[in-house]
Amino acid sequence: MIVEIIPCLSDNYSYVIYEKETNTISIVDPSEFEACDKVVSRYKKLDFILNTHHHADHVGANLELKKKYKSKILGSSADKNRIPGIDVLLIENQKQKIGNLEFEIIFIPGHTKGHIAFFFSKEKIAFTGDTLFSLGCGRVFEGTHEEMFNSLNKIKNLPPDTKIYCGHEYTKSNLNFCLAYDSKNALLKGKEIDIQKKLDSNQPTIPSTLGEEIKTNIFLRCGDPDIKHALGLKDSSEIEVFSKLRDLKDSF
Ligand code: ZN
Ligand code: FE
Repeated sequence: MIVEIIPCLSDNYSYVIYEKETNTISIVDPSEFEACDKVVSRYKKLDFILNTHHHADHVGANLELKKKYKSKILGSSADKNRIPGIDVLLIENQKQKIGNLEFEIIFIPGHTKGHIAFFFSKEKIAFTGDTLFSLGCGRVFEGTHEEMFNSLNKIKNLPPDTKIYCGHEYTKSNLNFCLAYDSKNALLKGKEIDIQKKLDSNQPTIPSTLGEEIKTNIFLRCGDPDIKHALGLKDSSEIEVFSKLRDLKDSF
């Protein structure tokens, strides 16, 4: 399984998945036709389009790509009326194949009502859309804080060496937020240099691993005593800490 990262719009990422044995080409969250087609056209085909959620910056190129390559579009059954050109409706825990690759649907509402992640368990790769970012999480637009918290916990249960491919390059501003409320975290400080180096040379900071995220992403660390202390929420539950952090991040 080869994953090619395609920067789109100002800070989106689309991903081409190439499975060699059966020559199957797929794309995750194609937002911009030209940028995506530049990569896809090298393969001369596009079998599948996978959408994590219905937002325009994740489905923007669906119809043009489908028209040009006769691709099949896969998305959440909950978004059957909102994902342009959708062909295959996916539900929680469903297993699906693209060529020889098998992935599992993880239902992770919060950012939107129908948000899903694609988890390739054999390859240990997850596409998390706008739910889990590197060092951050998505805004809660359609769901509740509790839904988002539960969705992040589902992802947290995947193997720690799972590579996380998310929907946006938000890592630097997420890092600044993490540092503000988790200032004693040495691993977090260590990441700063690495992130800056990548960004300075125009490289994506993606993918990270789930294990790294669990140690440095503040939204996955809501039970940490130092973070609770920094927020003045010493005796609060994890969900209360999460809600506070999500609100603070909205205006950070
Ligand atoms: Zn979104
Ligand atoms: Fe987005």
